[in-house]
Amino acid sequence: MSSIEQIGKEYENLYAIIGEEFFNQTAGLPFDAERLQQASQKMTQLCEQFLSKYTEPRQMYRASIEALARTAFLPHRLKLNDERLKLIADPHHTFKENPVTWASWRQFNAITKDAKIRKAVFDHFVNQAAQLVPFVKNGFDAIGGVYNRFETSPVTNYLEKEAFSYEELIQFLSKLGDGARATFLKTADRYSKEIKNGPFEYYDDFYFFRSQVFRPLDDHFKGIDSIPEVHKVLSKLGFAVNQIKVDNKDRPKKSPSAFCFGIRIPQDVRVVYKFTSPGSTLTSVFHEFGHGIHGISGIPTDPPWKRLIVPNSVSETFSILTETLVTSNQLFLTEDLRLPPDAAQDIMDRNNFMYLFFCVFYAANSLMKLAYWKEGLTFPQASQRWQDLTRRFYIEIPGDYWLLHHVMPQYAIYAPSYMIASVRVTHLVKHLAKEFGDRWWHEPKAGAYISELAATRGEFPMKKFSLNPQIYLDRITNLSFL
Ligand SMILES: [Zn+2]
Repeated sequence: MSSIEQIGKEYENLYAIIGEEFFNQTAGLPFDAERLQQASQKMTQLCEQFLSKYTEPRQMYRASIEALARTAFLPHRLKLNDERLKLIADPHHTFKENPVTWASWRQFNAITKDAKIRKAVFDHFVNQAAQLVPFVKNGFDAIGGVYNRFETSPVTNYLEKEAFSYEELIQFLSKLGDGARATFLKTADRYSKEIKNGPFEYYDDFYFFRSQVFRPLDDHFKGIDSIPEVHKVLSKLGFAVNQIKVDNKDRPKKSPSAFCFGIRIPQDVRVVYKFTSPGSTLTSVFHEFGHGIHGISGIPTDPPWKRLIVPNSVSETFSILTETLVTSNQLFLTEDLRLPPDAAQDIMDRNNFMYLFFCVFYAANSLMKLAYWKEGLTFPQASQRWQDLTRRFYIEIPGDYWLLHHVMPQYAIYAPSYMIASVRVTHLVKHLAKEFGDRWWHEPKAGAYISELAATRGEFPMKKFSLNPQIYLDRITNLSFL
């Protein structure tokens, strides 16, 4: 039987192989499917071996159960992906001369000018969605089975990881959803008028607005070069940014979304993106470089589980911290990027609108998922609960829509980690401004503070910053036209 140190070492090696192959796949490079599969199998065996003997370190224990649950879920996930393309299709509407399917739905919505047509496709898909239930249910049962084996549940595991009690998390999410509601609805009406020349309606989903509302930002950000800008601010803070490798080549099979891979922490950290539009590229690059500085700040002599196993809300703390410079920081936008004040205001308003949308939508998604496991909801009850939550937080949406979402049927928990991170960042920024001044990103001492926090990785002090949502709500409900 292996010692805990040997298991840790083996874990780190397999982690690097899996990460490297996923990197190749995402970057559109040739990748070795067999190497990936072999490493994943070995990883499963390693987690079984660890769990048969140890319950500490806790992060390794939780991550091992999660890994087994992912393995158990995989065949169901592949089956769901296949069936979804067949079942969710609308023969009456076409995209590039083929029927619109689940896969082309977002692109179809982004280019379809007639709202009535978007509504017809939405209604058709929601009517078909119940046919996905058997596949989603089998997958969730498989996940639940793994957690049962270890006398825990996805919710218990998640709460322990993020250091929340069940009641605290419910309260946190409810406060964000309820607190965002009124301002969200007013703002949604304004942008609906601009984009579709009509009122905000149930079929105008989060992804439709995300594809439309940022378009004017491209004019504001035209001519701003993302990499030199992010390098400038982060190196002034004292980070060795050149240690973060960048892949920005355009390849046909490269994912349009940006990513950061920590293949070996801290020595091999890679940001992957391709240019899409000036606005979204700048925001993504700042976000991913936040993950990048988090990665290169790891301490080589720390044990692998501390360096590699990090709660999502902690990873997102560093990415959202750098992202908010270009989405929400008036001084950074007008002084560092030298944008006119009205452009800066427009950028902040549009980002706040999407942050509000994110609050109401994620609050409904997360609360439904927590209830699914905690209360043991059936699938019809889950859909009804989700519908009720959307009515409470923003606008009533037919309940089965959640089955069509790209994340909710694919994961046990719809992690509210982004929301936790967003609230944490607002408190962290307040602290940075108080200690190092309003232009804290010009101060190497602020950089040293951030770097020290980043170095804690899997042992981040979860209680150091307040998670009271109010100051976050105050920030995102502050729109110039209301
Ligand atoms: Zn991120």
